Amino acid sequence: MFSDFFTYGRVLWEAGHLHVTSGNMSVKKGSVIYVTRTGSSLAMLTARDIVPVNLDNDLRDKNASSETPVHRAIYRALPGIGAVVHSHPPYATALSFDMDEVRTIDSDSLFIPVIPVLKDCPYAEGSACVASGFPRTLDSHKVALVRGHGAFAVGDSLAQCAARLTMMENQCRLVFFRRLLERR
Ligand SMILES: [Zn+2]
Repeated sequence: MFSDFFTYGRVLWEAGHLHVTSGNMSVKKGSVIYVTRTGSSLAMLTARDIVPVNLDNDLRDKNASSETPVHRAIYRALPGIGAVVHSHPPYATALSFDMDEVRTIDSDSLFIPVIPVLKDCPYAEGSACVASGFPRTLDSHKVALVRGHGAFAVGDSLAQCAARLTMMENQCRLVFFRRLLERR
């Protein structure tokens, strides 16, 4: 059941989205959210690093990722989704400081035409501000950025979330280099 955690945690590590203890992933099964342990490394997860918490309250959150309140808020607001992934993609995060949204320019813009930036929340892991502001954005966009922090993606599965995050980062890398070339 946890093999997708191991596979896509490794994918995000190899794609350069993470440092050793950043990022978190979860899936929802009924009234349980399985989320990565706080301080775990997505590059080398084991079954012990996947923590079950409650969808309806924080009573079992003790060892769970510090971003668990954001994951829970997203699941509660969007009951149709099955997975949430948070990563720190460097090109997308760099653009998020100065852009209110990233308009993509490559052929994948058919799938992700706009990447919204949540810009009104001061940086804080698991912040109530992000937890309250993000679910609505992710309903329509599936992937979005927190200014100066990183990205969240939602989907049916961890595979779909990882696909969206890596596509988004690729798009942002192109926007980044295009902006550099335009300055010449
Ligand atoms: Zn983060």
